[in-house]
This record gives sequence, structure tokens and C-alpha cells, in this order.
Amino acid sequence: MSRTAQEASRISPEVMARYEAVIGLEVHAQLLTKTKAFCGCSTKFGAAPNSNTCPVCLGLPGALPLFNKRALELALRASLAIGCKIQERSRFARKNYFYPDLPKGYQISMYELPLATVGALEIEVGGETKRIGITRLHMEDDAGKSLHEGFPDSDRLSYIDFNRCGVPLIEIVSEPDLRAPAEAYAYLTVLKQILEYTEVSDCNMEEGSLRCDANVSVRLRGAPKLGTKAEVKNLNSFRYLAHALEYEIERQIGVLESGGAVVQETRLWNVAAGRTEPMRSKEFAHDYRYFPDPDLLPIVVTQDTVAEVRRLMPELPGAKVARFQSEYGISAYDAVVLTDTRALADYFEASIRAGAPAKSAASWISVELLRRLNAAGKDIAECPVEPAALAELLAKVEKGEITAASGKKVFAKMFDTRKGAAEIIAAEGLSQITNTSAIEKIAREVVARSPDNVAKYRAGNEGVFKFFVGQVMRETRGQANPQAVNEILKRVLAES
Ligand code: ADP
Ligand code: ZN
Ligand code: MG
Repeated sequence: MSRTAQEASRISPEVMARYEAVIGLEVHAQLLTKTKAFCGCSTKFGAAPNSNTCPVCLGLPGALPLFNKRALELALRASLAIGCKIQERSRFARKNYFYPDLPKGYQISMYELPLATVGALEIEVGGETKRIGITRLHMEDDAGKSLHEGFPDSDRLSYIDFNRCGVPLIEIVSEPDLRAPAEAYAYLTVLKQILEYTEVSDCNMEEGSLRCDANVSVRLRGAPKLGTKAEVKNLNSFRYLAHALEYEIERQIGVLESGGAVVQETRLWNVAAGRTEPMRSKEFAHDYRYFPDPDLLPIVVTQDTVAEVRRLMPELPGAKVARFQSEYGISAYDAVVLTDTRALADYFEASIRAGAPAKSAASWISVELLRRLNAAGKDIAECPVEPAALAELLAKVEKGEITAASGKKVFAKMFDTRKGAAEIIAAEGLSQITNTSAIEKIAREVVARSPDNVAKYRAGNEGVFKFFVGQVMRETRGQANPQAVNEILKRVLAES
């Protein structure tokens, strides 16, 4: 049993059921720009420590910021993609605090005039669709990274890498509309998918391009007011988000049940210990002495700009699901599977352009291809079978040159060897037997071998027909055309 589950087991399910959890997420995504938000330094991940820095992002005296227009375009695109209203006028504000990883002494963020407000996302949990409100989307710059481990003198010293300083982020704040860890998980999944689809962010959680803080409170079911919340930080994976929320909900219920009060504070998810721990008492907006950044002009977004952002918007996941169903006649389920990532959806459509029939492409990709990719731990981008190669194989199955069963064997070989379908079919002798006299010869042998079953069949036992089909298919190693086998067997069995 995990530690989280152990802690949970202290509170009975009956008691847990009397409470309701309330969750709001604050999600930070790194914008996919080549350069930082206010200087020309590279945003490339993995560069030598402190190599991507300059006087601006190091906050040296006299250095002046210059706003990256590409960052604004991506932030506007994200705003529209999550249904937010773009503010005509927004403005950067300085959020002042001291921390070693923040050389400027303030973070450039937005406060009273965010870039966009009031949007919503739809999530699906337990077969039901739920609308989750979005309060706001604003832009900000990232801080550096303190390194407390991994150096010979880490017991005495900490190191700082300023490469991330000034990297452009968006923060998306949800309403407290989520009611369970599974809903928070679904919300983050949908949001991540949209940000990836729109190429706003690569959302790489290991590299810190997508980060999530969770605000959590609990209250007795039906209570009119929200409870006191704690903010849990350091949730850099979906698993941590779910585990931390489960832990925190149970902890707060435990506090209330034992007559205590939840303290408004910032907590940290301790991965190793599997629990949330107090980090600092809650800071309030006034602690940060926000004020408009005098070095940066207000951002004015005209209706024309909004229209242009809308025009350049890539197709969103929901629209793609609907289009795949209507355009290709595939099921809602297949459409959802095939649109999971934009790369997978593109692969599917590329195979169709290369001549694959849509329905069989849908089923081969969602079953055979994904199964093999998963087993190999590969991403669709690394798929050894090109869309055109898949289309070639499917055309052969469709035309009856090989059976579907052989097709699967061929596909496996294509996946493992990167060879083409024609080459493998020739080498393995898998061409479908449509030669009726060859099938008839085998059918007669099979029938002659089983007089008992022939008698049963003639006595009206239709079920044994399957037995004969199975025998013929076995003799032909699955390469006989199933329709031809059926017809020939019926004829052979009818002769007396
Ligand atoms: P703060 O002033 O502490 O920053 P906000 O009102 O700005 O709080 O909300 C921050 C986040 O916390 C939002 O995602 C919001 O939905 C969420 N939130 C607000 N109140 C609660 C609550 N009582 N329980 C859970 N989440 C909450
Ligand atoms: Zn710089
Ligand atoms: Mg706030």
C-alpha cells in the first residue's frame, strides 16, 4: 500500500463521503518562442548553465526590456483556444519579492489588467461532460533555477542557473469548479492537449514547460461557503497532481474531523515522502507591492489583431473529432483516439492522402499501430512505418491480395524492419490464395477426413460449418480468401 493510501485509511469512507473537495488550478506553460520574453537570449533547454543570459534577463542596472511579439501572438492564440475574451488593453506589472533565482528583484507579470479573462474548458469524467470556468490568462516571465544537489560541495553550497530567467510563460487560472482529483486530472489533460495542438507550448513536464499549482479546500457537502484553501506546489507530473490532491483532501478532512481548522498556506508536494508539507504561510497580493512596469508599454490588442489570431488558429481537438466523424465516417470513439495528439491525427490523414481507405486506416492505426508503438515505447513521430507505407499495405488487404490476418503479420514485419509491404509479402509467400481450385482441393481433403462432422452438418447442425472453415484456413496458413472458402465448402458439403 502506498503511503498516501495508508494515511487515507485512517479516515473511513463514510466520513470522507460527507465532504466535498473544491479545487482550482493555476497552470504555467512556457511559450514556444526561440528567444526570451524581453531580450534576445535563447530559450533552448539544456544549454550550459548561465550561457543563455544577458544584462536584461540578469536584471543588471540600466538594461531595458524589449517585448517579444511572438510571445504575445502565442499568448493571444492560447487565450482564444480556451474561450477567453482578450482584453483590449492589458499591462505588465512588477511582482516584487526577493529570491536568489530572481536577480531583477521582481517578476514581470500581469495583475490588474490581464491579457484575457473569462473562458471555459469542457472536461469529460465518468461519461459526463462538465464545464470548468477559466478566470484569466496572463503573461509573465520565468525565474532561474536553484540547484541544491548534484555538486561535490552541495552540502555547503547551492548553485544558480539563470538560463530560465525571462523565459516567457502564460499562467492560466481556473475557477474553483473542480470537485475531485480525477476532474483536475481531466482538466489538465484537456488544457495540455489544446496548448500542444495550437503549438503554444511543447508542454514538456519533465523540462518544466508545463507546471501546475493546485488550490484545494474541503467543505461539508451542501455547505454554502467554500472552505479555507491550501495551495500545493511542485506538481510537475499528472501522477503527482492526482496523488497530491488525494493526500491533501484527506489531510484537510482529517484536520476538520479532529476539530481543527485548515490553515491558509502554501504547501509543497514531497515526492519521496508521498505527502504535502507546509512551505510558507500564504502570501497576499499586497505583499508583492504590484505596480505597473514603467519600462514596458501597455499592450493594446485591436479587433483586427484578434481576427488575425483567429484566422491563424490551427484546428482544435474538439473540432477535429467532429470533422473526422463526418468526413471519414468513423466512430466517435475512433475519432477521439486518433486525435489524441496532433501528430497522430496528421499521420491518419497522411495515410488517407496516400490512398488508404479511411475506415480501415482508422482501425489499423488505433489498434495495430498504437499497440506496437506503445509496446516499443515509441512516439508517433518515431513510427518506423510511414503513412504511405501503411496505405500501400491497406490497399493490398482491400484488394484481396492478402488476407487481413496476413496483413497483420506483414505490418509487424514492416514495423520491425522498416521494409515495404510488397517486399515482405513476396519474401514470406503471403499472397492470398484466391485460386479456387487450390482451395477446393484442400476443402475436399478436409471434408473427407471428417465423416462424423459431415454427417452432423447434413443432419442440420450448422455449427460444424465453422469447424470446416477453420480447418481450411489452418491448412492454408490463413492465406485463403475467406469468402471463397465459404462458397467452396458449401458446395462441397452439398454434394453427396
Ligand atoms: P489568491 O488570492 O489566494 O491568489 P485566488 O482567488 O486568486 O486566490 O484564486 C487562486 C486559485 O485558487 C484559483 O484557481 C481559484 O479557483 C482557486 N480557489 C479560490 N478559492 C478556493 C477555495 N476556497 N478552494 C479551492 N480553490 C480555490
Ligand atoms: Zn537575456
Ligand atoms: Mg490570486
